[in-house]
Amino acid sequence: MTRRFLLWLILSLAPVAVQGQVKSLTILHSNDLHAHLLPDDHGNGGFARLATAVRREKANCKACLYLNAGDIVQGTPVSTIYRGMPVYEVANLLGFDASTLGNHEFDYGWRRLQEFVRRARFPVLAANTVDDAGKTFTGKPWLIKKVGGVRVGIIGVLMGDLIPVRVSPADAGPWKVLPVVETVRRYAAEIRDRCDLIVVLGHIYDFSHPGANEVADILNQVPEVSVVVAGHNHDAYAKMLDVEGRVAVLVNFNADQLGRLDLKVDLATKKLTFAEWKKIPVTFSLPPAPDVDRLVKKWESKVSRLVDFPIGQNTVALPFRDPRERTLIERALAEQTGADIAWISSGTIRAALPAGEITARLIWNVLSYDNTMMSGRFKGSQLPPAITARYPVDPEREYTVTVAQYTAENQSAPDQFGAETGLNFPVKGKEMRDAVIEWIRKKRTIP
Ligand SMILES: [Zn+2]
Repeated sequence: MTRRFLLWLILSLAPVAVQGQVKSLTILHSNDLHAHLLPDDHGNGGFARLATAVRREKANCKACLYLNAGDIVQGTPVSTIYRGMPVYEVANLLGFDASTLGNHEFDYGWRRLQEFVRRARFPVLAANTVDDAGKTFTGKPWLIKKVGGVRVGIIGVLMGDLIPVRVSPADAGPWKVLPVVETVRRYAAEIRDRCDLIVVLGHIYDFSHPGANEVADILNQVPEVSVVVAGHNHDAYAKMLDVEGRVAVLVNFNADQLGRLDLKVDLATKKLTFAEWKKIPVTFSLPPAPDVDRLVKKWESKVSRLVDFPIGQNTVALPFRDPRERTLIERALAEQTGADIAWISSGTIRAALPAGEITARLIWNVLSYDNTMMSGRFKGSQLPPAITARYPVDPEREYTVTVAQYTAENQSAPDQFGAETGLNFPVKGKEMRDAVIEWIRKKRTIP
């Protein structure tokens, strides 16, 4: 070959080699699995069926990544009783290429979360959770993975107000959270040259959260990011969010759905030329993956002995987020402690209270957080609006008030009293869940 011909060859082929490179990539994704190892009452969901859905999609996909957007733990007795670890053990079989932290990963304290990260056989990305020295919580702010000829950069982030709004300073220990957009921008700049596509895996706020929309901020303000795989909102997006060809996706919580995002990536421009998204329901018609099913049963049979027994009857179905359920639980707590008022935050309640037989498991699902009751005696005038709006008081009279330990310790958090009250709750009571179970057993029929 002459030198001249070689030069011609290089000149004529080079533009083709760069311009025409459009590659396919599929991102499977889930979020907020919340320890729902078992299917729901209709037989849908569960980790074993989710695994089957993932494996089927992977089998008909040439270049595939599976990403999970946080909150693996918290929501069922197996998580509460064994402090999260069995859920990570089962999640190891799902085949995540990466996961990120959710706010609930901190529910058993930051030291326990370090144990989860060590146990995880998948990388846990946490770019904006750092200590004073700037070290990230998992040592992995991002990951670059080459799939089907596409170098995918994945940056993991948590909502910017995590501490103290979502996680108490005690559970966060030495860790703090940096602003989401700033962190994403910094790491996107750092890895841009080494990637063909940048994905943010974020347990962050979207349009459903009043006051902050970190998903939209990333799409609008960090053009290097082509895809946001989101978590925290528990309700799937009706359709893929799209800002000038940059997209965001999120599916239902509790392993109810698997997302599949099919993309075409132009390697020259590092932009998407195509994006199509669907939600795959994890229904009872999917056979459970046998290896996952075995491990789920191992743990759930231990749990079953502790929670699967009837404690009473409920005559009025109370759907999830029906305010009457909160009032009923507060009444139970007040009657058990002898307080005039019991107050819990609406987020304390995690599941519906259906009509019919009530098992202890049901109450574990409703009150999945461990929460000791704390009581104190105050004048009506001392009580914050969060209480007096729901329980009108005489400012001059004294009241005994029971709250969760979490509320007592984080009174100013927006989802608690939302104001600094200085109230001191000196009397420590029982575990809230045990109190409600005892109350129902005593009454036999509620409400
Ligand atoms: Zn969640």
